[in-house]
Amino acid sequence: MTQADVLPSISLEVFSHHHEVIIVGGGIIGSLIAYTLRRAGAEVIMLDAGFEGEATRASAGMLAPYPEGLAGELLEWAEESIALYPALVAELQEQTGIAVPFSLEGTGLVMPGGEDHLSVWPSLASLNLRGRSYPGGYVHPLRLKEALWQAFQRMGGLVLRAEALLVTPGRVETDRGALLGSHIVLATGAWSGRFGLGVQPVKGEAMWLETAPPTIPLFFEEGYLLPRDGGLYVGATQREGWRPGVDLIGLQWLISFVHNHVPHLETAPIGALLWGYRPMGTLQVGEIASGLYAATGHGRNGVLLAPATAQRIARSILGVSPRRSRG
Ligand SMILES: Cc1cc2nc3c(=O)[nH]c(=O)nc-3n(C[C@H](O)[C@H](O)[C@H](O)COP(=O)(O)OP(=O)(O)OC[C@H]3O[C@@H](n4cnc5c(N)ncnc54)[C@H](O)[C@@H]3O)c2cc1C
Repeated sequence: MTQADVLPSISLEVFSHHHEVIIVGGGIIGSLIAYTLRRAGAEVIMLDAGFEGEATRASAGMLAPYPEGLAGELLEWAEESIALYPALVAELQEQTGIAVPFSLEGTGLVMPGGEDHLSVWPSLASLNLRGRSYPGGYVHPLRLKEALWQAFQRMGGLVLRAEALLVTPGRVETDRGALLGSHIVLATGAWSGRFGLGVQPVKGEAMWLETAPPTIPLFFEEGYLLPRDGGLYVGATQREGWRPGVDLIGLQWLISFVHNHVPHLETAPIGALLWGYRPMGTLQVGEIASGLYAATGHGRNGVLLAPATAQRIARSILGVSPRRSRG
């Protein structure tokens, strides 16, 4: 299913209506906020420009706070998010029939001579991987986003394909007209710098190999491998700036990574190349001006931190913890 399949035609009345909540950006952060608020009974419209390079589309979706080195408040957010994931995935399946691939069977950090035997790759048992096991897992970010968009719209939430050009409290100027609303949330990922938020794009390039994966995400010194759609996701580069696509430098990095750590896979067919812009910079989640909220700057961990982010923004808008329905 593509985004276009879930975008209904929208009545022009959305431009004369005063909305309760306008979400700008429909990546994992915007769509989970939109879903959470709508589920709690708020009237919500989410607009998305459909920019190429959306991080969520390319993301590995690992829920791996320990190998990612998170600590302090961020680790608390990550643990809170991980605890919210099982119910979220189950309720989305119930509402949409979309089974989002998801696992909390752990993650592994591969280190020569490490204390744990990482017996998690049945087809490559001869690798004898050692390292350290951690709690965590993975979710399929694009399936999750598709399920969120669908569930949000089934509950009466509106999705508008439009680009926000100028955002001020109470008003969003778009390329299709102006939208008015009481609460506006900027969830614009790597493009957030345009609205004065301290976020820069860091491109990640990844590939999907048609070969049997390990059962859990495995981190190596410079990259990682995880199960995806019956094959193996290999990621990822970190390159500053706007430069679309996977180029030869990115491809070379991916090939060297496989060559250095799992040369057995050098003959596996490349099924797909993926790329997206991570929103790097300061994590900003909360009200930044009256009725204007930021939810951006999640860098390498936006999928991991999305549920905790949605809870915080929803609480800030509703004044209470989000529940199933206000009515
Ligand atoms: C290769 C790669 C691997 C990753 N692996 C992981 C991982 O394992 N675990 C993890 O937790 N995170 C991972 N991340 C990071 C994670 O994917 C991001 O932090 C997260 O997806 C950011 O979500 P977002 O909604 O903020 O941004 P995006 O997903 O980029 O969405 C932003 C959306 O806003 C829209 N938009 C922007 N500007 C406007 C505008 N002016 N008007 C309307 N719409 C607009 C865009 O069209 C886009 O759809 C990875 C990222 C990459 C690239």
